[in-house]
Amino acid sequence: MDRILKGLSRFQKSVYPKQRDLFQKLALGQRPDALFITCADSRIDPCLLTQTKPGQLFICRVIGNIIPPYADAIGGVSATIEYAVGVLGVPDVIVCGHTDCGVMKGVVNPEPLEPLTSVTAWLKYAQPGRKAAASQDETRTETEFLLAVAERNVIHQLGNLRTHPTVAERLEQGDLNLHGWVYDLGEGVVTHYDSGQDAFVALETPLTRS
Ligand SMILES: [Zn+2]
Repeated sequence: MDRILKGLSRFQKSVYPKQRDLFQKLALGQRPDALFITCADSRIDPCLLTQTKPGQLFICRVIGNIIPPYADAIGGVSATIEYAVGVLGVPDVIVCGHTDCGVMKGVVNPEPLEPLTSVTAWLKYAQPGRKAAASQDETRTETEFLLAVAERNVIHQLGNLRTHPTVAERLEQGDLNLHGWVYDLGEGVVTHYDSGQDAFVALETPLTRS
């Protein structure tokens, strides 16, 4: 805890005073640019990755960036989606998987996790990703297969996201965009799902486009 408490103290003494105006404005309300759904993995820092400030990302963190289909498991994930999409009216939702994901490893090799009943029950929502990766007719190393599972899992969770009524309604209105990302932890690279190619390709940013 020492490191955490020292950080809090540093925030209060030197970070907060420099951005007092921003924090006081945020105390009155929020209008985030996007709902960012990603794995709880400690190596992912959505704000660092996207260089966003407090107030800009509404974040839902859950192991395996899993979104149960609507009505199947009403809980924190569905409530967070409903609030972000239905109340805050975010224009974009990003589902971001990542490399070396422990959950994807558990999906491929579930035995060691079997005593953990909550984790095991949760993993069933990621099994379709494993099946889709396994049906791809390619010879791959274990790391490549894990990446394919992470990618197909993101696609499957995007499908589940569409089953949520608030999401379906906003998609119907044409004012909500869904994005599937995979973040390579070691390389700092993000690929995104291109449905036309049915593949994850380099993400274009305003900088790479110019
Ligand atoms: Zn993960």
